[in-house]
Amino acid sequence: MKYFYSRKQLLKNSSIMQIIIFGAPGVGKGTQAKIISLKYGIPHISTGDILREAVAKKTELGLLAKEAIDCGDLVSDDLMGGLLKESFENIDSKKGFILDGFPRTIAQAEILIVVFENLGIKKPHFIILTTKANILVERLTSRRLCTKCNTISNLSDIFDENRCPSCGTENTLIKRKDDQKDVILNRLNVYRETTKPIIEHCKASIDMIFIDATANIDVVQKEISIALNN
Ligand code: ADP
Ligand code: ZN
Repeated sequence: MKYFYSRKQLLKNSSIMQIIIFGAPGVGKGTQAKIISLKYGIPHISTGDILREAVAKKTELGLLAKEAIDCGDLVSDDLMGGLLKESFENIDSKKGFILDGFPRTIAQAEILIVVFENLGIKKPHFIILTTKANILVERLTSRRLCTKCNTISNLSDIFDENRCPSCGTENTLIKRKDDQKDVILNRLNVYRETTKPIIEHCKASIDMIFIDATANIDVVQKEISIALNN
């Protein structure tokens, strides 16, 4: 059988927003992923957000994951693989998605490749955000989480330290437990030793787009849009 795609179909395929956003803790993955999710109307799958919600609700997953998260270690590949598969069962991946926080180990990258193969996802956009280590530490130490609306903001952008800049509620800003100095250093080490090697491991089989994420949120967002051709 001969396969025929109309020009319209090809254009449609090439604009599918199937995105993985990758990079060190603090580089701004979550912030950029949220904007992209709203801009293109695609679901944002954030493993960090899913885990934090599970911890807050004290579900089985939450209880199993809490200690690792609090110390800045990784949750097991087994648990994360299950969580990933479940997340993809709940969306229509053909309509696009942005995946944030997975893979974090080479084993997870292998799991992802199989999941994508099964779903017929052939050419996802793999975006890697980069910046210097001192900037990562600075961003993580000055990061605050709103317990009401879940927005992450940076102290340097907050006019009133007692008020969430996103929802305006007072006294809801906290420092995430894993944003304490010693935990931050551990997370950056884990990234260097376990997560970053994914780039070398997968670069022959996946096209990767490197974006310098040192500039401000809008500039980085623009760079991503250009890279995505949108
Ligand atoms: P970060 O700001 O470091 O990117 P996230 O909010 O994405 O943090 O994740 C917070 C924590 O959740 C991680 O430090 C880790 O303990 C756990 N976690 C998230 N995704 C994964 C994953 N794919 N594999 C293992 N652990 C994970
Ligand atoms: Zn808020």
